[in-house]
Amino acid sequence: MNAAEPARFDLFIDGQEISGQKGERATLKDPASGHAIASVAIAGRDEALHALEAADRAFRESPWAQDDGALRARVLRRLADRLEADAESFARLETVNMGKTLREARGDVAFVVRTLEYASGLADKIEGETIPVPPPRFDYTVREPLGVTVHIAPWNYPLLLAIRSVAPALASGNSVVLKPASLTPLTAVSFARLAHAGGVPPGILNVVMGPGREVGEALVTDERCRAVSFTGSVEVGLRIGEIAGRRAIPQTLELGGKSPVLVLPDADLDRAARGIGFGIFGNAGQMCWAASRLIVHESVRVPLLGKVRAFAEALKLGPGIEDGIDMGPLVSADQVDRVLGYIDAARQDGGKVITGGGRPDDPRLAPGNFVRPTIVEEVPPTSRAVREEIFGPVLSVSSFREVEEAIRLANDTRFGLFAALWTKDVGAAHSLARRLHAGMIAINDPPNTFPQTPFGGVKDSGVGSEQGRKSIEFFTRTKNVLVHLGTPGKRPAPASVRTKPPK
Ligand code: NDP
Repeated sequence: MNAAEPARFDLFIDGQEISGQKGERATLKDPASGHAIASVAIAGRDEALHALEAADRAFRESPWAQDDGALRARVLRRLADRLEADAESFARLETVNMGKTLREARGDVAFVVRTLEYASGLADKIEGETIPVPPPRFDYTVREPLGVTVHIAPWNYPLLLAIRSVAPALASGNSVVLKPASLTPLTAVSFARLAHAGGVPPGILNVVMGPGREVGEALVTDERCRAVSFTGSVEVGLRIGEIAGRRAIPQTLELGGKSPVLVLPDADLDRAARGIGFGIFGNAGQMCWAASRLIVHESVRVPLLGKVRAFAEALKLGPGIEDGIDMGPLVSADQVDRVLGYIDAARQDGGKVITGGGRPDDPRLAPGNFVRPTIVEEVPPTSRAVREEIFGPVLSVSSFREVEEAIRLANDTRFGLFAALWTKDVGAAHSLARRLHAGMIAINDPPNTFPQTPFGGVKDSGVGSEQGRKSIEFFTRTKNVLVHLGTPGKRPAPASVRTKPPK
C-alpha cells in the first residue's frame, strides 16, 4: 500500500463499487502509526436505500433464493477456498486497519474460512418436516428465506463478526446489506469484491459504510429489511431492538460483557494464568467476552497473580504488522482515552495497579494508540471499572473464601455473555457452570469459539445467538402447508360440477 496515496474503498452495491452521491470520503489511519492507509466512501440515507433496493430486487429475481441450495453451497465453498488462498492479504489489511497483531488477524481469517465452509455444508440441508394430522389431511413445513437481512458489525473483529452472520444468511437464500463499523470497513469491502468474483450474484451481498446513526437506522427502519443481526454496544443494541420490535422483525443482538473468571484452589495455576492472560489481553482486551473480572480463591491468589502478572509483563507491544508482537494498539485515540479513564476510576475508587496502568514509555510507540496490559487489585465491586465494559486490556481482581461468595460476585453484573472457571473437580465445574448466569461457559479454557458452537448472551449481553445450526433457523421462516387429500373413492367433484345451476 502506498502511504502517499491511500487505497480507495468504495461502497459495494448491486455488484458495483460506487462513491456516495455527495462524494463524501473519510481517510482511515493505521492505529499503530497514525499513517493514512485508506480513503473510504461514506454513504448517507440515499445509498442505504439504494442498497436495500438492489438487495430486494436480487432476492426476487436472481436464482439465489429459489435454488434448492446446491448453488449456494457451491458458491460459498468456492468463496471459502478463495479467501483461504488470499488469507494473508486479508490478515494484513485487518491488522493495519484495526491494530490487532498479524497472528490474531490470521486467526480471524481462518475462522471466517471455516464459517463459510460450515455455512456451505448447511446450505443444501435446510429441510422442513411432515407432521401427523387426522386423515384425510397431510401436513408439512418448508423453511423459506426471509428476504433482505441487515447486518451491523463492530470494529473489534471486523471481518469475523460480519461474516459469522452474513454466511448463514446467504446460505439460507437471503440477500444481505452489511454495514461495517466506520473505523474498520476495509476487509468487508474486500470480501464483497471476492464474493462477487466468486459467483455471488449482483445485489445479493451489498456493503455500505457510513455513520451508524444515519445509515444503520435507515437500513433497519425500512420495510424491506426483514431481519437484523447487530453486534456492538448495549446502548445502540437496545435502540436497534426497539426499531426491530416496532416492525416485528427478528433480531439478534450481541452486546457487551463483563465476564468473570473463577479460579478454585485445586486449579492448574500455570494453565489458568495463561488462559486468564489470553482472555483479557488478546485483541488488546477489545473483546465483547473479555474475561475482565478475576475472582480467585484466597488460598491461591498470591501465586496465581504472580503468574498472570509475569504473563502480562512478558507481552511485547508494538505494531501488529511486525513479527514477534504479542499485543497491538487499541483501535482509536478515543478508545485509549476511554480505557485510561476507567483505569483512573479504578485508582480513585481505591484500586491498586499492580502492573501497567497507562501508556507505554517506549518513544517508538508514542504515535500509536497503545495501552499497557493492566492488572488492578482491590477495586470495590461498586466501582465503574468493575461494573462497566472497559473494552481494553484491564483485569480487575477480587478474591473469595466460600464458593457461594464467588458465585455471588460472578453473577453481580448486568451482563451475562461468558464465564470461565478453572478447577480439576469435574463435579464442581459442572455444578458451577449451571449456576453462572451467562450464555457461554468455558471450563479450563480461555474464551474460545467455533463456527459450529452457539455464541450469545443473557441479560444485557443481548438476545438470540450467532453461529451453529440455529443460525439457519434464524435466517429462515417456517411455512406450514395443510393439504386435504380427498376421500378415497369419493374424489370431490370439480367446483364447476358442484355449483348448483341457478333456478
Ligand atoms: P457501537 O455500538 O456504537 O457500534 C457498533 C456498530 O453499530 C457500528 O457499525 C456502528 O456504526 C453502528 N451504529 C452506531 N450507532 C448506530 C445506530 N444508531 N443505529 C444503527 N447502527 C449504529 O459501538 P462502538 O463502536 O461505538 O463502541 C463503543 C463500545 O461498545 C465499546 O467500547 C464496547 O464497550 C462496545 N462494543 C461491543 C462490541 C461487542 O462485540 N459486543 C463490539 C464493539 C463495541 P459506526 O461505526 O458508524 O458508528
